Amino acid sequence: MPRSWPRPGPPTAPLGGPGVLCGRAAPQRGRPASLCARAMTQIYLDHNASAPLRPEALHALCDAAAHCFGNASSAHALGAAARAALSRARRQVATLAGVASETLVFTSGATESNNTVLRQLPDGAHVVTAATEHPSVLEELSAAGERGVRTTRLPVGRDGRVDPARFAAALDEPGTALASVAFANHETGAIQPIAELSAIAAAKGVRFHCDAAQALGKLPLELARLPVDSASFSAHKLGGPKGVGALYLRPGVAFVPLHRGGAHERARRAGTENVPGIAGFGAACEAARLELEPGARRLGELRDRLWAGISRAVPDAVRNGGPEHVLAHVLDVSFPGASGETLVEALDLDGIALSTGAACHSGSTEPSPVLLAMGVPEALARAALRFSLGPVTTRAEIERVLEVLPAVVARVRRARAA
Ligand code: PLP
Repeated sequence: MPRSWPRPGPPTAPLGGPGVLCGRAAPQRGRPASLCARAMTQIYLDHNASAPLRPEALHALCDAAAHCFGNASSAHALGAAARAALSRARRQVATLAGVASETLVFTSGATESNNTVLRQLPDGAHVVTAATEHPSVLEELSAAGERGVRTTRLPVGRDGRVDPARFAAALDEPGTALASVAFANHETGAIQPIAELSAIAAAKGVRFHCDAAQALGKLPLELARLPVDSASFSAHKLGGPKGVGALYLRPGVAFVPLHRGGAHERARRAGTENVPGIAGFGAACEAARLELEPGARRLGELRDRLWAGISRAVPDAVRNGGPEHVLAHVLDVSFPGASGETLVEALDLDGIALSTGAACHSGSTEPSPVLLAMGVPEALARAALRFSLGPVTTRAEIERVLEVLPAVVARVRRARAA
C-alpha cells in the first residue's frame, strides 16, 4: 500500500436524510451550491429509478479508489490488493443473491447483463417474456427480431403478475429457447412467481433468465436453489454506485461473452474491472442484507400509511397493483383527471421527487406500457405516480407528502379542466 496515500476518512456529508451523500448536508467542496441546497430540502421517493449512495458504499468506493488502483490482472502486490477487493465484493453480492461467488460476472449494470443473455439466443429462436419487462429486455428482443428471433410478450393480470398456465402454454411453441421474467417490476413493484415459472421452464427444458435488478436487497433471494439459469443485478438500485452490476450464470450454462479482449471475469467479460465501483456495490449489498427484513417491514408500514392517507384525501385515487405480491417500498397510484407528468413537476416544486414510472420512460409522452399491459385504461395510465421509498425515507416525510399531495392533485385537476 503506498505510504504517501492518505486513507480516506469518513464521508464528508453526514448521512441519514434523503439525498444522503449529497443530501441534508452542508454543501460539499466541488459541488454546485444550488444542487446541494436543493437536495437538502428534497423528499426523495424515487428509489426505483436510483437509490442514494449508501454510506458504506461510499466508504468502500473511496477506499478502493485510493488503495486498490492496481490492475486486478497485474502480478504485483497492488494488483493483488485490487483482486482482493473484487473477491470481497463478489462474496458480498453473492451472499445477498443466494448464489456461489464464482457464478457472478461483474458488468456495467443490469442493462448489460440482460442484453448479454438475450444476445445468446440463436437466430430464429422463440422467447417468452412478460409485456411488463424493463426496456433493456424488451428493446433487446425487438432488435433480435431482425435476426428472426420471435418473442411472445405475455399479458399480466391487474396485479401485474404472469399467469403460470399461460406461461406454460407459451413455452410449448416450437423453437422456444428462453424465458425471461423479472423478479419484481420496476414500476409497480409486482413480484412474479419466479419459483413456479422457473420450475415450469426447467420441466420443459427451456432456459430461464430473471432480471432481478429491483429485487436484490429488497427480497430475500436464494437464486441458486431455484432452476434459474441466469439473473441480472444493478448496484444503484440498492444504494451502490451507478454503472456497476452483475450477471449470475448457473454453473454449466453455455455462455458466449459480449465483450472480448481479455480473460477478465474468468473469460466471461473482457475489460479492466471497475474496482472502486464493484467495491461500492459489494458494500451496498452487505448493508442491504443486514437490514433486509426490518427495513422491508418499516417501509411496508410507511407505504401502507401513505396509501391509507392518499385514499382518504383523494377517494377516487386508484392503486395499480398490490396489495399482495408487491415490493414493500413501492406504491403506484393513478389520480383520475390529473396528468402524471404535471403532478411530477408540481410536486418537484414542492420539494418531493418521484416519477410517473420507469426513469428511462420519463420524458416520453406515451402512457406507461407496464400499466397498459396490466389492463389499466389509458387515461388512468397517464395519471399515474410511482412512489418508491427507501432506507432514508422517514415517517415525517410521508406525513409531509400527505399534507402537500391532495392540494397539488386538486390544483392540477383544476388546471386541466380549465
Ligand atoms: N432492469 C430493471 C428491472 C430495472 O429497473 C433497471 C433500471 O432501471 C434495469 C434493468 C437497468 O439497470 P441499469 O441501470 O443497471 O442498467
